[in-house]
Amino acid sequence: MATVVTITVPKTGRQIKLPTGLFINNQFVASVDSKETIECINPATEKPICSVVAGSAKDIDVAVAAAREAFNTTWGKNVTGFERSRLLNKLADLMERDAQELAELEALNNGKPVRVARDFDVGDSVGCLRYYAGWADKIVGQTIEIDNKTKFAYTKHEPIGVCGQIIPWNYPIMMWAWKVAPALACGCTIVMKPSEYTPLTVLKLSELIVEAGFPPGVINTIPSLGSVGGAALTAHKGVDKIAFTGSTITGRKIMAAAAESNLKKVSLELGGKSPQLIFESANLDQAANWAALGILYNTGQDCTAGSRVYVQDTVYDKFIQILVIKAKQLVIGDGFDEATGGGPVVSKVQYDKIWSYIEAGKQQGAQCILGGEKRSGKGYYVDPTIFTNITPDMKIVQEEIFGPVLSVGRFSTEDEGIKLANSTTYGLGAGLHSNDANQCMRVSNALEAGTVWVNQYNLLYNNVPFGGKKQSGIGRELGSNALEEYTSVKAVQWNYGEKLDWPL
Ligand code: NAD
Repeated sequence: MATVVTITVPKTGRQIKLPTGLFINNQFVASVDSKETIECINPATEKPICSVVAGSAKDIDVAVAAAREAFNTTWGKNVTGFERSRLLNKLADLMERDAQELAELEALNNGKPVRVARDFDVGDSVGCLRYYAGWADKIVGQTIEIDNKTKFAYTKHEPIGVCGQIIPWNYPIMMWAWKVAPALACGCTIVMKPSEYTPLTVLKLSELIVEAGFPPGVINTIPSLGSVGGAALTAHKGVDKIAFTGSTITGRKIMAAAAESNLKKVSLELGGKSPQLIFESANLDQAANWAALGILYNTGQDCTAGSRVYVQDTVYDKFIQILVIKAKQLVIGDGFDEATGGGPVVSKVQYDKIWSYIEAGKQQGAQCILGGEKRSGKGYYVDPTIFTNITPDMKIVQEEIFGPVLSVGRFSTEDEGIKLANSTTYGLGAGLHSNDANQCMRVSNALEAGTVWVNQYNLLYNNVPFGGKKQSGIGRELGSNALEEYTSVKAVQWNYGEKLDWPL
């Protein structure tokens, strides 16, 4: 039996009972052999919340075996699409019922404001489960005529099997929903590894899986270090697919381990250094709102963070003036206050990393026009920071910071703007702001990114595919495209009349 802890939420005083073990076969259990634990820290206070079991490679073996058994006996072979749909909808209903509790736990562990976690992270995740519930009984193949007389073929989109899913800390609930929902809709079973920084809400969600009535072994959760559980899952020969969201460095390791072990299918959602282009015809007030959202949402810990903004010369000064006013308006502070728009960053590691970039920006000669000074007191807070006078070789322009740090540059012609925007190894998101429709069409075609936002930024919808080009990833999440990641197409070729003359 695993330990259950009681967490008292600040301000609301809510008592959350949380099992802190591994979740395998619908039960919370202790590790087979690990005595290690993961300490979860509240980034707003720097104080420990609780510890959870740190799963080992052997625990991954047990979880994969449970997922395989469920795939072969229930979920993958004997549960209809209608039933998968019903259970996904039930899980969505339970998440909606517990939205406030989940949001409070997310805020404690990740730092994001409760209001944001509840209205966006949990709200969109409920929508994601319902969207894929709608697909579960509509996964169909084709009938293909061969000669109209003796032969035809049909295709089946079969569940790919046991999926390892590895998620990061920036959207613990939402990344869980994005991965779990399409996999379950397709009939796959899952071993989930949450980030070691933010395992708490994924454990809470595991309780809802039992309450919803999923058969044992369909979703198993192993909190573990990336180098232990993540590496074991990726290299496991009993895993048919790995879905990963995280850094490009880890993505490379995952692809290599998948290739070495059993050539399992891989989808990767990786980092970015996404640009936004502000053209002179744009509504500058609106463009500044979207630019602020792009870099400040989730305190910049966003794979699509619009961390480079390029402004046309003619409107540069005016735009900067407006942008600074907008950035100052965001309230970063206590996540348990409903007025707060941004919280602390997730961890000391992330905090130190962001400050090292801010220092590098100053040292390399960029001009810091907003922020750039540490707060006193507890909590991993970083205020909105804007750099101008940038050059393309600067670290703050080249590398993903994953914090509220924006680099602003300028361009004169459309071609120059496009060239600057595309001068990165990444290709996740890009934005453009212009009131010239022909320009919008030209520029959106030219931008090298998996998502291009026109006169908006950073909005994602469950029915629109999302993913990267270049070194931002492989494969797509969301939309019907995600179903392709969790299915394998079988072609059945049927002969009902042709006789084979032999020898040829
Ligand atoms: P990370 O790559 O360090 O960790 C992500 C996950 O991978 C964690 O669960 C971690 O435990 C696991 N992991 C670490 N090493 C591993 C290994 N060797 N084998 C298997 N798993 C391993 O990233 P992070 O610091 O948690 O998250 C921040 C990064 O994620 C950022 O760089 C960001 O760009 C990226 N990200 C991308 C997207 C996207 O959709 N493209 C979304 C969120 C975050």
